[in-house]
Amino acid sequence: MKPVIALVGRPNVGKSTLFNQLTKSRDALVADLPGLTRDRKYGDACIENKSFIVIDTGGIGESEQGIDAPMASQSQQAIMEADIVLFLVDARAGLTPSDVQIADQLRARGKPIHMVVNKIDGIQEEVGTADFHQLGMGEIHAIAASHGRGITLMMERILRDF
Ligand code: GDP
Ligand code: MG
Repeated sequence: MKPVIALVGRPNVGKSTLFNQLTKSRDALVADLPGLTRDRKYGDACIENKSFIVIDTGGIGESEQGIDAPMASQSQQAIMEADIVLFLVDARAGLTPSDVQIADQLRARGKPIHMVVNKIDGIQEEVGTADFHQLGMGEIHAIAASHGRGITLMMERILRDF
């Protein structure tokens, strides 16, 4: 069975950009508008001869009301389906209250979690990741999804036990 990997995190951290890089498809919509991907999107991916399924989600950690409510539930669904959760955050924005909320929700799930600090381009890795160690969410990976940087190494580390 291929492992299932869910990409979660608040809007605009780069989930869909990473999904596109992993699947090399252009059908997960990426735009400058935060939270554009409203539904779960599944992709087939293969890195260094290891196959896996990747799930792109809308953001969680926003208000549970209005348009955010289905986004939140579809993210929860993706987490349930996943063998591994990639928790994406934004190195440029630093740690936000939404990130802290999502971290609390993820901890309660008991799934294997990897922290992915995205948008590390133009930032020193130690500086960009410094904020996020305090979450204590396990291994931290620094990537620049839009530049394709750090992704192969990250996936090798994530999939080494699969
Ligand atoms: P999502 O809402 O989490 O799916 O985020 P998107 O993938 O739609 O990306 C949100 C914005 O961040 C877009 O404008 C992307 O081009 C930009 N972005 C994504 N990855 C990177 C990155 O590695 N570096 C920089 N500088 N921008 C990025
Ligand atoms: Mg998206």
